[in-house]
Amino acid sequence: TNFTDLGLAEPLLRALAAEGYDQPTPIQAQVVPAMIEGRDVLGTAQTGTGKTAAFTLPILHRLLGMGTRPAPKTCRALILAPTRELAAQIADSVRIYGKHGHLSSTVVVGGLKISKQIRALERGVDILVATPGRLLDLKSQNAVRFDDLQTVVLDEADHMMDMGFLPQIKKILQQLPKERQTALLSATMPKDIRALADQFLKDPVNVAV
Ligand code: AMP
Repeated sequence: TNFTDLGLAEPLLRALAAEGYDQPTPIQAQVVPAMIEGRDVLGTAQTGTGKTAAFTLPILHRLLGMGTRPAPKTCRALILAPTRELAAQIADSVRIYGKHGHLSSTVVVGGLKISKQIRALERGVDILVATPGRLLDLKSQNAVRFDDLQTVVLDEADHMMDMGFLPQIKKILQQLPKERQTALLSATMPKDIRALADQFLKDPVNVAV
């Protein structure tokens, strides 16, 4: 399999070629087509498997097909991560893979000025990468709306649980449109993560690498 076989749009193929990736990793080969089709995904995968591109590429692909701008304060795809560092890494990947695509993205994390983040969200963004606490702060200040949200990704869900983010994650998921795509990735699949998946994912494709 190569990236063309996965059905990815040409601007993404160009970015991947520039990165020197010739072949999808096993998680990419499974997750990319499933997410392009709109399926939910429950993925067991460690860091280093290429999991970031596995969920980022289909999100970019679907958004590239839209050709419209996000409405003010909305985001179309939301990626939740446990730490600022991981959020920043994911946002870097979004920029690298999306560099030929004219999509907008921003990252909102704790510890940085919220006023700047409020301004960054004003016109709406295609892809928002966030840590849960800061996202809820922004929501409570009406700086972000979820009306047009199509896809949400929970990355390193076990790590988010360990950090005590379960209540915040549930609060966020409950505010999202019912008709949406959800992907949950975790290095381990303990009971509490399975319960979260049972509650919030619809007929997910299960992937373990
Ligand atoms: P991740 O598991 O998402 O943290 O990715 C691990 C590393 O693999 C990152 O440095 C990526 O740039 C790299 N990577 C992701 N996908 C591929 C691929 N298909 N071919 C080569 N390297 C990749």
